[in-house]
Amino acid sequence: MDSRQILDVFNQGVVIFDKNYKVLEWNRWMEDHSRISRDEILGKNIYLYFPYLKTPSFLRNCKSVFTFGNIAFLSQAIHSYLFKFKPKGSHNYHFEFMQQSAVIAPLKNEENEVDSCIITIQDVTESVIVERQLQTLNMTDPLTKAFNRRLLDLRLTDEFARFKRYDYCFSVIMIDIDNFKLINDTYGHKFGDTVLIELVRRINDTLRETDILARYGGEEFCCILPETDINGGKPVAERIRSIIANDFFSDGKNNIAVTISLGFAEMHKGIEAPEDLLESADKALFKAKRDGKNRVVTYDQVKQG
Ligand code: GH3
Ligand code: MG
Ligand code: MG
Repeated sequence: MDSRQILDVFNQGVVIFDKNYKVLEWNRWMEDHSRISRDEILGKNIYLYFPYLKTPSFLRNCKSVFTFGNIAFLSQAIHSYLFKFKPKGSHNYHFEFMQQSAVIAPLKNEENEVDSCIITIQDVTESVIVERQLQTLNMTDPLTKAFNRRLLDLRLTDEFARFKRYDYCFSVIMIDIDNFKLINDTYGHKFGDTVLIELVRRINDTLRETDILARYGGEEFCCILPETDINGGKPVAERIRSIIANDFFSDGKNNIAVTISLGFAEMHKGIEAPEDLLESADKALFKAKRDGKNRVVTYDQVKQG
């Protein structure tokens, strides 16, 4: 029996090459994903076809396999992939390349010397996607599907670090529904929930992909606008305000107008911790409420009195 038959049934990539990186084996899985046939690549230098493999880390791993007979594990979590293959299946929009875990192991000849290397490659794209979905589940508010406080805190810490290191500006907006208690009391808690869900949908629709909307608590939300200063961010806050105020909220039975108040704060050098930025936005929100609700107030306006 030809060992090639066995390699070809594996639902994994198998590549064998010698010390000169000459390909000795290339199974069907590799043929399918690379669109390079076994006949074509056998006996050729692997770098001829995959020059991007020649990284210091790949060379180091191969050297340790050839020299010491070690086994190298290339985990997806660190490397993402070894070969640049198109991802298969319906979820391929998540990744440009198939996510892979790979193992590089030594093969010995009759004299017990390592004379070739075997690489096995596993497609782990699907499980990485599921893992990411589970992570987002942990990061979203179950009612509104907005992000939760945990995600907000993580992202704020990130943005804060980026500001300190690279001077990338960002802004936050605190949002609070006006007279929400009255809405609950008049139309019932269930309708209140519908308002919260619909509000998140409308705000998310108007935000950029990179902006973050999180439920801060109850009927309060917080937006992070990366790479946005007050000139770019204040119009965003104003747009959110008008989108909410200008369209009724309905559950088929009740039809009501809802307004929100917004406090805007821009990151600047005087701010020592992420919480301080939120506090500035909160002060602005407080002034928006005091000045009559359904408005945007910036922290600059708070300081001006
Ligand atoms: P203001 O204009 O000053 O913000 O007044 P308000 O009535 O909106 O503020 P208040 O903080 O007094 O009321 C907030 C209400 O939000 C009270 C609480 O029952 C309600 N609430 C908080 N979480 C939820 C929720 O998940 N669903 C519903 N339906 N209501 C909620
Ligand atoms: Mg509130
Ligand atoms: Mg409120």
